[in-house]
Amino acid sequence: MTAGAIEDRPAAPAVAARLPFEIIRDPAAMRRRADDLRRDGLRVAVVPTMGYLHDGHLALIRRARAAADVVILTIFVNPTQFGPGEDLDRYPRDEAGDLAKARACGLDLAFCPDAAAMYRPGAQTFVEARELQRPLCGARRPGHFAGVATVVTKLFNLTRPDVAFFGEKDYQQLAIIRRVVRDLDLGVEIVGVPIVREPDGLAMSSRNVYLQPAQRQAALALSRGLAAAASRFAAGERDPAALVAAARAPLDAEPLIRVDYVELRDAAELTDVTTVDRPVVLAVAAFLDRTRLIDNRLLL
Ligand code: AMP
Repeated sequence: MTAGAIEDRPAAPAVAARLPFEIIRDPAAMRRRADDLRRDGLRVAVVPTMGYLHDGHLALIRRARAAADVVILTIFVNPTQFGPGEDLDRYPRDEAGDLAKARACGLDLAFCPDAAAMYRPGAQTFVEARELQRPLCGARRPGHFAGVATVVTKLFNLTRPDVAFFGEKDYQQLAIIRRVVRDLDLGVEIVGVPIVREPDGLAMSSRNVYLQPAQRQAALALSRGLAAAASRFAAGERDPAALVAAARAPLDAEPLIRVDYVELRDAAELTDVTTVDRPVVLAVAAFLDRTRLIDNRLLL
């Protein structure tokens, strides 16, 4: 076969449908673009993020690429999900680096609004999943999940996706978003993606960049504790207190760590469990100085 014959071949349909890469910052323009995409009958996937992308985010983008005609990444450090004294002002940002990484994974469109465009003066409407937002991180970060649920609803309204990808790393967030979509009939398929970890087990997070070397080493206690509890579970342990104790031990032994919580909860409703007779999630949050890390493990 000659080189000419290869060149004459039509492009694969997926490639032919690919659009020139685009960055949109104006919410109204995003909405118009999304309406056009839908009108063209394209299947749209969205990956909402706060940027400073790592391999966990890229796993979501790759999954989206495989599932849709058009992949939209949103980068928005959402002020309404940060509490007073949290890291809104110092949250790491690198838009140019993010776009380069995301484009290498097949991104078509980035929606990068600024806060003033997303929250106009007088904004006062919030979306809440009342019970699911109560325990775990919701109990320690008042208003956080209302901020998350509201911004994700807004991002869905602006990007009009068929499918959206979220990490299991933020387990409670994923549970809340699934419930919001169901309760408000948003008609978006929600796909959860397994936690992507560093080779030594630390769950990838944009906030890992805050860690000093000694803290980075100490942070391994989160995943080690969860792994220890999972081994106990695999060996037949079904007592929640024993499983929590197994997860907590490495954290309590680490002087650089201050435990925020270690809890075992029903995997769907996030309610307390007295014995492990259904799928549960073991969830951990811990501080290393001012840096708060989370991790979790499903026990099925
Ligand atoms: P963030 O930028 O932290 O708001 O995260 C954006 C999305 O990436 C959320 O759906 C997170 O759950 C997901 N994500 C963050 N870290 C990871 C990870 N280590 N593995 C899988 N997904 C992740």
